[in-house]
Amino acid sequence: MTAAHKIGSLLFCPTCGTLLDLPKDSEPNVICEQCGHEEPATSYENIKITTRSHPDAFPSVLRQKRKTQTKTHDSENLGDLVSEQCPNCSHPEAYSKALQLRSADEGSTVFYTCASCKHGWRVNN
Ligand SMILES: [Zn+2]
Ligand SMILES: [Zn+2]
Repeated sequence: MTAAHKIGSLLFCPTCGTLLDLPKDSEPNVICEQCGHEEPATSYENIKITTRSHPDAFPSVLRQKRKTQTKTHDSENLGDLVSEQCPNCSHPEAYSKALQLRSADEGSTVFYTCASCKHGWRVNN
């Protein structure tokens, strides 16, 4: 008899080309809905249905973000002057510095130091 056409994990009816359903557990044959061709369920046995989901399939945005945040550690440096309002004196500019104090799986902490009154505060990312 004519074997079904295999394309990837799919089988197509050799007679009319219709996509055949996957065999049900209790049935030895898959029957073509179009022409009634009976394809033995064993035709599916050598087909491995592979899932493509893999942890590495997702581009790690966090990982890339961490790389860009890695800077030379300089405890003397107050950081970059940014427009951040001081909660103490409402001065519009503060020095910003990102530090990773906690484990790498958690976010980084940004320290702000007011450019005017030197008040310090932190924001967790
Ligand atoms: Zn058919
Ligand atoms: Zn201030």
